[in-house]
Amino acid sequence: MHVIYGGTFDPIHNGHLRVAIELREALGVSRVDLVPCHIPPHRGDPGGSSEHRLELLRMAIADEPSLGVDDRELVRGGSSYTADTLRHLREELGPDEPLVMVLGTDSFAGFDRWQEWSCIPELAHIVLVTRPQAGLAPGSAPSQLLARRRVTDVATLGAAPAGCILEVEPPLLDISATGIRERLASGRSIRYLVPDPVLARIDELGLYGSDGNERGR
Ligand code: ATP
Repeated sequence: MHVIYGGTFDPIHNGHLRVAIELREALGVSRVDLVPCHIPPHRGDPGGSSEHRLELLRMAIADEPSLGVDDRELVRGGSSYTADTLRHLREELGPDEPLVMVLGTDSFAGFDRWQEWSCIPELAHIVLVTRPQAGLAPGSAPSQLLARRRVTDVATLGAAPAGCILEVEPPLLDISATGIRERLASGRSIRYLVPDPVLARIDELGLYGSDGNERGR
């Protein structure tokens, strides 16, 4: 089973890292790949450049062999459409290997605005991480999709290459990248919210500081 966890990672924080570990264990896989997006189609431009977000991500997982970075969306450039990424992965993995994409409920709530969203369940399973205060609107397209495709155990994911949605509720750290950027912009500490090497590099580069966010890519 191949598991990917996509995001803007602007910047990577301990909430992301913990959930990746929890999922690796819950899904019984040896590795989870984090997939940073280049230009996220559904939100404003990231505060950090692609290069810096990738560098911080690599630093964050350097000592953890069970986490990987898949930089294909940065290499590809342009808008990062998940359907394209999954199609490329499907070509590499072949038709039978289970492919899983991990998504928080906050992201899944707007799933029907994603490019080719209705193709995505044909390309991969979705593992939905329940985040507090991020419920699905009843009757919305994502909530109907969930009702149609919901499964309740991990073994079902292993038995098919794609098509199922599994909800998981791992313990989550209450950390968001928005909160980190806000703290940095107002000169507050982010220690213990991100790995120490990430903190040191953000300081060194002056990223997300109140002296003006970097915008280049
Ligand atoms: P922002 O605050 O800028 O929106 P974020 O911290 O939510 O950022 P993203 O890069 O947008 O991070 O998120 C990537 C994925 O990680 C999404 O699916 C999101 O739901 C999930 N995620 C983010 N923070 C956490 C957390 N603390 N615990 C578990 N999942 C998280």
